[in-house]
Amino acid sequence: MKPEYLIIHHSATARDTTTFEAVKAGHIKKGWGDIGYHFFITADGVLHEGRGQDQIGAHCIADRMNYRSLGICLAGNFEIEQPTEKQLETLKGIVNQLKEIYKIPAENVLGHREVENASTLCPGSHLMTFIKTIRKVNSKPSPDEQNALLQTINEQRQEIGRLKSNFNELSRKYQSKIGLIKELRVALESKKSWVVKWLKAIKKNDNEDS
Ligand SMILES: [Zn+2]
Repeated sequence: MKPEYLIIHHSATARDTTTFEAVKAGHIKKGWGDIGYHFFITADGVLHEGRGQDQIGAHCIADRMNYRSLGICLAGNFEIEQPTEKQLETLKGIVNQLKEIYKIPAENVLGHREVENASTLCPGSHLMTFIKTIRKVNSKPSPDEQNALLQTINEQRQEIGRLKSNFNELSRKYQSKIGLIKELRVALESKKSWVVKWLKAIKKNDNEDS
């Protein structure tokens, strides 16, 4: 099986007391041969490997997902409780890894309830919120987002262009002022003795006036 989707579940049992072993034993008892999921994340954030990734799953009948997806389950009932930070961290890590390995696009990372014709609350509203955020990260931007991005880039380019021409103009003005100051200095140097006498004369007049 080459997985095209990742389907995320919750165990719908109490988060902190649900063990991998208990869920696995329960599924074997049902005659599924192994735990139905490919991965299971307990409240402590530990990733337990379920059935082999080449094995058909037993976690989502709807839309034939057992035959074309990997199932990842988190211990907990996320309709009524929150997943732990460690669980979310582990989930994010394994989702990114599997996306990379099997070239699964972000939009194919689904909560069980999102699968067509699946009628279930799984994986719970609280986990759904998080699934939506992992889908957004590193996902291909939509045409609208691409356009918005392009527009921003163009605006920034124009702004840079304006700043550049302002800078060039200021730089030209600065250079011409520098030139003028140099000329004035040369002119003053050549008239130094005259200027000194002149200043003295002004001072003397001022003194006589007062
Ligand atoms: Zn489920």
